[in-house]
Amino acid sequence: MRTIILAVSTLIATSTLPAQASGPEFGPSNPFYAPSTLPFHAPPFDKIKDDDYQPAMEAGMAQQLEEIRAITANPAPPTFDNTFVPMEKSGQLLQRASETFFNVVGANSDPTLLKVRSAVSPKLAAHQDAIYLDEKLFARIAAVYQQRQSLHLNPEQMRLVEWTYQQFVHSGANLNDAQKAKLRKLNEQLAELQDDFQNKLLEATKNGAYHTTDKASLSGLTDAQLKAAAGAAEARKSDGYVVPLQNTTQQPDFTILSDRATRQTIFENSWNRAERNDADDTREVIAKIAELRAQKAQLLGFPNYASWGVEDQMAKTPESAMKFLDALVAPATGRAAAEAQDIQALIDKQNGGFKLQPWDWDFYSEQVRKAKYDLDEEQVKPYFELNNVLENGVFYAATQLYGITFKERHDIPVYEPTVRVFEVFNADGSSLALIYFDYFKRDNKQGGAWMNNFVEQSRLIGTKPVVSNVANFAKPAPGEPALLTSDDVTTMFHEFGHALHGMFSDTEYPTLSGTSTARDFVEFPSQFNEHWASYPAVFQHYAKHYKTGAPMPAELAEKIRKSDKFNKGYDVTELLAAAELDMKWHMLPASAPLEKPDDFERQALDESHLWISYVPPRYRSSYFAHIWGGGYAAGYYAYLWTQMLADDAYQAFDDHGGLTRANGDRFRQMVLSRGNTEDLEQMYEAWRGGKPTIEPMLKERGLQGGE
Ligand SMILES: [Zn+2]
Repeated sequence: MRTIILAVSTLIATSTLPAQASGPEFGPSNPFYAPSTLPFHAPPFDKIKDDDYQPAMEAGMAQQLEEIRAITANPAPPTFDNTFVPMEKSGQLLQRASETFFNVVGANSDPTLLKVRSAVSPKLAAHQDAIYLDEKLFARIAAVYQQRQSLHLNPEQMRLVEWTYQQFVHSGANLNDAQKAKLRKLNEQLAELQDDFQNKLLEATKNGAYHTTDKASLSGLTDAQLKAAAGAAEARKSDGYVVPLQNTTQQPDFTILSDRATRQTIFENSWNRAERNDADDTREVIAKIAELRAQKAQLLGFPNYASWGVEDQMAKTPESAMKFLDALVAPATGRAAAEAQDIQALIDKQNGGFKLQPWDWDFYSEQVRKAKYDLDEEQVKPYFELNNVLENGVFYAATQLYGITFKERHDIPVYEPTVRVFEVFNADGSSLALIYFDYFKRDNKQGGAWMNNFVEQSRLIGTKPVVSNVANFAKPAPGEPALLTSDDVTTMFHEFGHALHGMFSDTEYPTLSGTSTARDFVEFPSQFNEHWASYPAVFQHYAKHYKTGAPMPAELAEKIRKSDKFNKGYDVTELLAAAELDMKWHMLPASAPLEKPDDFERQALDESHLWISYVPPRYRSSYFAHIWGGGYAAGYYAYLWTQMLADDAYQAFDDHGGLTRANGDRFRQMVLSRGNTEDLEQMYEAWRGGKPTIEPMLKERGLQGGE
């Protein structure tokens, strides 16, 4: 049974069962009806139509419930083979249809597909509830779990039993009926409050926009930006100019807005956006959410919400995440203080006559950056032609490390003509996986970049991985080369790191396969792979001028390398402050009084030595959407945690000769192929020969003092 479609955390909310019978429109003519006959069971995009997805997913849900019913109706006492194995085999039709659907709706959407998504999303949530709240099913799982030590299970089977049991218990399967009713009620209240928070914040952010009729106050903006600001005013039926707020504390225009008073006003609008004592003030809502989450955790047997939320993560306890965050505070704030000195020196040199404030930081640090590194992307881009970076950079590094090779296939149908497909081979020539690349920006593609599976690897099911990398790189004019920025290059290596994690997967059970790992682990292989982009032997192999083939001049390459470490004191400190706020809100016990958010925030940051006048948190509590509205409650630390793992892992490679097959093969065998088949902390430590440390991260980010 695979649960990757939706997060597990909201399971108890409703339990409306989806339609039992397959719709009349679903039959053998539907391209998802049977497993694809294409190589690797690749989706038959030459046959799939928009109308095929919904009936296939609905039939898939009904079919999986039938499969689960067959398990619970079995009169034989529960065993691993008659409970876990058929659970793992269940839901294949749903998986085929939904994985293809969610890939395409993100990468190549249209109004029909969006309608299908709205229609099936609540059904999928209810479907997942129906399985997690199936008492007969849980009774069988629990019975096998209780006897697990005497069942002679292999390590992966043991992990599957323990993981599945934990996920059910995590969702409340162990509670009695009265407690379940209480949990359902709490979940409903929380869903409403989170919704309320998001609505208030949306309105507050909209109302926090900077409005002026004085063009001079916006000096520094380009003509195009001024035009956009005039357009934004017009859209609000207002005269003059409107600069809307972005969701972070700092605003992107601060690097160029030269009027200090304007920057201060915009900053204050941002900082106070949701604290105006009006209808959109979020403070009461977030305090209430924190209180109810603490009650929910208590009901589920945890001292606080963070303990519940981190239990199935690599960090395991909020204390271990906090210990990590706390250790970063001194180096990050120390570096930020040095950066602040540079900035203050520049302000003084220009006879500014004031003390650095948060609204000054980006404006002056941009000038410091230009003076120190002056990196002109237009100068860099001719050395980063897309196909060259892919084949001589991304593929090259993977071949050096893991011995894998790539061959483009033109016979696999794609959902969009610019998508390219490669077959990947192991060093011994055996076939490993298929990978799709969909790199160019389109209007019907979601922003950002990501990796997805079309087919997940599982020996039990007999499937090899089919993965994809999607990005939003600028599409060149016909006949022109696609030239990337240095950020784009990093993105390519990053997403390919996720792809390797998916392609190297070598597990029996689909639940434990590939990238289906904890939030504080899943960004580790991707951030680790970023390191090879700047590794000298790799960089020199791809960073060549697209016309002349000349290598990038050393001076330019050095600028890229150095600008990487610029402003990291600030960047890490603002993330740390947000991560500590998140954790402290969610470590409140159920017995804590309802908090006053401003006091709580000030005290939390003070205690952590992160209340710093010139580095405010990346998000203030009252507009921290990741934790109150999104799925990152007690999880924001994962961004920094996975950076630590990535840098620590790279250090291990560096200590043993860097880019070598021996290093790559060992990492593949002990980490990248293992999915979630082992305790992640133990898996990492077994490979690394010890616990990860923060020193490589400090070195990598220039946080060790000096430069
Ligand atoms: Zn990623």
